[in-house]
Amino acid sequence: MLSVLRGIPASPGIVVGPVHLLRWEVPEVRHRLIDDAEIESEIARFHEALDKARVRLRLLRARTEAQAGPKEAAIFDVQLSMLDDGEMVKAPIALIQQNLGAEKAFDFVMAEWRQHFARSSSPMLREKVGDLTDIHIRVLSLLLELPDHDPVDVPPGSNAILVTHDLTPSLTMQLDRNCIGAIATEAGTATAHVAILARSLGLPAVVGLRQALSALQGGEVAILDGTDGTLVIAPTDDEVAAAKHRVEEEAGRADVMRELAHSEPVTRDDHRMVVRANVDIPEESELAAQSGARGAGLMRTEFLVVGRASMPDEEEQYASYSRVARAFAGDAVIIRTFDVGGDKLPVGGFPHEANPFLGWRAIRMCLDESELFKVQLRALLRAAVHGDLRIMLPLVVTVDEVRETRQLISECVEELAERRVPFRADVPLGVMVETPAAAVACDTLVRDVDFFSIGSNDLVQYTLAVDRGNANLAPRYTPFHPAVLRLMQQVQTTGAAHGLDVSVCGEMASQPLAVFALMGLGIRHLSVAPRAVADVKRVIRGVRAEAAADAARAALAASTAREAETLLRRRLRSELER
Ligand code: PEP
Ligand code: MG
Repeated sequence: MLSVLRGIPASPGIVVGPVHLLRWEVPEVRHRLIDDAEIESEIARFHEALDKARVRLRLLRARTEAQAGPKEAAIFDVQLSMLDDGEMVKAPIALIQQNLGAEKAFDFVMAEWRQHFARSSSPMLREKVGDLTDIHIRVLSLLLELPDHDPVDVPPGSNAILVTHDLTPSLTMQLDRNCIGAIATEAGTATAHVAILARSLGLPAVVGLRQALSALQGGEVAILDGTDGTLVIAPTDDEVAAAKHRVEEEAGRADVMRELAHSEPVTRDDHRMVVRANVDIPEESELAAQSGARGAGLMRTEFLVVGRASMPDEEEQYASYSRVARAFAGDAVIIRTFDVGGDKLPVGGFPHEANPFLGWRAIRMCLDESELFKVQLRALLRAAVHGDLRIMLPLVVTVDEVRETRQLISECVEELAERRVPFRADVPLGVMVETPAAAVACDTLVRDVDFFSIGSNDLVQYTLAVDRGNANLAPRYTPFHPAVLRLMQQVQTTGAAHGLDVSVCGEMASQPLAVFALMGLGIRHLSVAPRAVADVKRVIRGVRAEAAADAARAALAASTAREAETLLRRRLRSELER
């Protein structure tokens, strides 16, 4: 058996703890016929499983309410009411009475319902597919007496390493953060949303650990190293001691890192950079504001939505955006409108799509559902009185999307004026440049927008046609490909020529080597993970902008990503050693 699994480092830190396996997939069910004499006891067994599922859901509901609030807990009300639905109980019982084993009867009915809901023309029903799937898994696991893989069951205070195939954002929201010390997934890459969320929650994580579930039993001790991207199974005493030593060492470096994080982001030849923080949930904003970053360059508002049964209303959104605006006390706070879709879906999800990353998502969904979008825009205009708030649109491919948004903003301004609530009408509006269309044709956008922010996570995926979440493709997913670097240069040059700020807010802005390359392309605004501020400033302060520009010119002329990366690395090293 393998004792060290290697994956992709996704969120730094080392944790020594017991493995908790989470298999949240519909289990295989064998066809099983029963005798007439067994029918009654089989029906009783089915009722018992439903009762146990109810108890678990109530537990989960209570815990979520205590930790996250009543709105988040409402997801479980939807599932509890489904379990009480007469049809969900009657239909499997009818099949058991025709001599089918309870688990097959339930599996059969649920599979039919899920298909029926998924194909429904009613969005209300389609939204319920995720809940049905949760119930399907939960009740079947009880009927099959499978080892308990429920996310609710991690022993408190155990500092467990959660290992699962893929952690959806909604499942992430259900986890008890007091019990989980680290996350490991078989799927995913460093820019998949599980990785981004793990970084915001400060949980060490390794993704793309391809054989993890088959190599583990659950309960064994392991060491997860989120910096190296490894999971050591059943480590020796020496390995545990070495890991603990590294944890202490990192704690010892904390003072030096703090000082660096709060230093000025100025190059050796006196070029000033702006380093802002990425914020994924409003609760992180106070910590992010103390990270040494000046302002928030990207708040991903969709994390207010994922894992919930319904959209947050205007008041709740207003409270969230105001919190972030206030936390950064006058520094710019760039809030991105809902980028829902792709791998970021609310509970129940959206209509099934063959290619969700090319699908009905982000600004497309918001413009089609303009009432829902206007709720967010009104909340943003109101929150803008509490700071230097700016609005940013995701996945823009054409200036029409910006113009339509401006029209909706004018409508919101009128509505708010009528309601006589405080708001700001002149909130700057910018776009994410994360599609080749937006990058190549960024000159068509310049007159209608106030700033550009390059979303390198998606720009890389769409330019290279490499799924950002596919672990098998991870080595092919690189921001150093000359095509990506050239697109970014074009955006920087065009933006600067029109007096627009151009920033980069994808994960590459948090990586030292990429920071060097971006500075060389002329980019002066970065938005980074709060934990990366010190490392980013180390590069900024250790180099000359002139040397970075020289290196970027050479990288732009390279024929391959590897060539570009190698030469950038060499030049950064020699610059830092000067
Ligand atoms: C990006 O695409 O680079 C980005 C910052 O947005 P997200 O990672 O949320 O897609
Ligand atoms: Mg993106």
